[in-house]
Amino acid sequence: MDCIFCKIIAGEIPSYKVYEDDNVLAFLDITQGTKGHTLIIPKKHIKNVYEIDEETIFNVFKVVPMISKALKKAFNPIGLNIINNNDQPHQSVFHFHIHLIPRYEDDGMILSTINNYDKYEPTYFNNLITKITNEM
Ligand code: 5GP
Ligand code: ZN
Repeated sequence: MDCIFCKIIAGEIPSYKVYEDDNVLAFLDITQGTKGHTLIIPKKHIKNVYEIDEETIFNVFKVVPMISKALKKAFNPIGLNIINNNDQPHQSVFHFHIHLIPRYEDDGMILSTINNYDKYEPTYFNNLITKITNEM
């Protein structure tokens, strides 16, 4: 399969391994957006959150606290972001992965949400809830 992360798992492409068990691999993101920027992936090839099964996502997320605490102890960041991109606009590798991004003062990373609260009435929020729960 032409998947760069499957090739990393198979050892066909080298990586800087942070952690490995039967189901998951964690390794340094090659770009090192900030110091310690780490990716956690399932060993099973799964495209993204729309295709992942509960057991596999559990296996990935269950190592998040352990690795996050190791990053905190190792580098003393002021915070840490956990990011997962699915499809557009940001997914560039189509093998499910979680980014652990330690944060530092003035690290240049821009991650923010927009506050649209003033634009909406309660009916808007209730309509959203109806639409979402109808799909469950
Ligand atoms: P996405 O944009 O899909 O959420 O993130 C994919 C990430 O994979 C990027 O941050 C990119 O730097 C990283 N990446 C892509 N190719 C390689 C590689 O060959 N080795 C490593 N370690 N990271 C990679
Ligand atoms: Zn893959």
